[in-house]
Amino acid sequence: MTPRRRIIPIFVPHAGCPNACVFCNQKRISGSLFPASGQTVEDALCGLPDGSGYELAFYGGSFTAIPVAMQEELLKAAQPAFARGAVSALRVSTRPDAVDPRTLERLHRCHVQTVELGAQSMDDRVLACAGRGHTAEQTRQAAGLIKASGFQLILQMMTGLPGSDEESDIATAREIVKLRPDGVRIYPTVVVKDTPLEEMWRAGQYREHTVEDAVGLCARILPMFETAGIPVIRLGLNPTQELSGGAAVAGAYHPALGELVRSRILRSRAEELLSETPHGKEVRFFSPPRLLSAVIGQHRDNLTYLQQKFGLERIEVFPEVGEELRLADAAEK
Ligand code: SF4
Repeated sequence: MTPRRRIIPIFVPHAGCPNACVFCNQKRISGSLFPASGQTVEDALCGLPDGSGYELAFYGGSFTAIPVAMQEELLKAAQPAFARGAVSALRVSTRPDAVDPRTLERLHRCHVQTVELGAQSMDDRVLACAGRGHTAEQTRQAAGLIKASGFQLILQMMTGLPGSDEESDIATAREIVKLRPDGVRIYPTVVVKDTPLEEMWRAGQYREHTVEDAVGLCARILPMFETAGIPVIRLGLNPTQELSGGAAVAGAYHPALGELVRSRILRSRAEELLSETPHGKEVRFFSPPRLLSAVIGQHRDNLTYLQQKFGLERIEVFPEVGEELRLADAAEK
C-alpha cells in the first residue's frame, strides 16, 4: 500500500447507481445534495499549492456507471491540478457490476490509481435482501480485473445487513481476505433516515445491528484482516453533523466505533491473561502507552467488566514501553 495522502473528497451522491440499496441515502450520509460537476472539481482544487500531492477521491455514487461524458468531465477537470503536482493521484468508488476493461482503461488514462469497490457482502442471499443488484461472483471478477489492471484495490464490506448473521459476515470477511485487497473499509449497518431500511426497521422486518452487536462482531473480523496483512482503513461511517443530528435513526452509528472495537479486542486479550487468576486478587496490567486508553475503555468500561467477571479485589493498568499487553507476575506486585 502506498503512503496515505491527504484526500480531497468530491461527492457524487447516487450518480450512476442503477437502483437504491436498502440502507443507502448518500444525501444524508455525505451531506451533499447534488452530484459534483467539472466546475465543482476545479473549485475544490484551485487553491492548492503546486506539488502539494493531494489525492482527489470521488465518493458517494457508482463512478464507473455514470454516463461516460460526465465521468470524463469530472476526471478532466482534475488534470491541470495533476499536471502541476497539486494532485498526485485520483481515486474512484464504484460497484462490482460496473467494472470492465474499457472503463478501467479510461481511468488509467486519467491517472486514477485506486478503485474502491462496494462488495458489502459475499453472500448472494444477503446481497439480494439489501437490494444490491449484483452477485458475489461479480465482486470476485471485478476485484480480479482491477488488480490485474494495476490499480490499488480497496474493498468495502458491511456487517448486520438484512438477512445476514454473524457467521455470514465472518464468511464475507474470509472471502474478502482471499481477494487480497490493498485495504478494506468495514461499515456496520446504520439505519439512515429516509431509506427502505428505515421502513423495514419501523415495520419490525429488520432487527437493528446495534453498536454492541457491531463492536462484538468487528472485534472478530478486524484481526482476520490484520493477520492477513490487509490494512483496515476505516471502521464505521464517518461521523457527520447530519448523521449525529438525527439522520442515523438506529443501528451501529458511533463517532468512535473503531476505537470501541480496538478496546474490545484488548479486553479479550486481558480476559485470556486473567483466565487462571483466582477471585479476590489484586492485578496489574502493563500496556504500551499508545494502547493505554483503549485497554482501560471508555468510562473505564473494560476495567469494570474485568473486575466483575473475575471477582478481582482491584485492577490497575500502567504504561510500559513494549508491544504487548502484559499481566504483572506476583513478584512485580
Ligand atoms: S450503496 Fe453505493 S450503489 Fe448502492 S445506492 Fe448507495 S452509492 Fe449507490
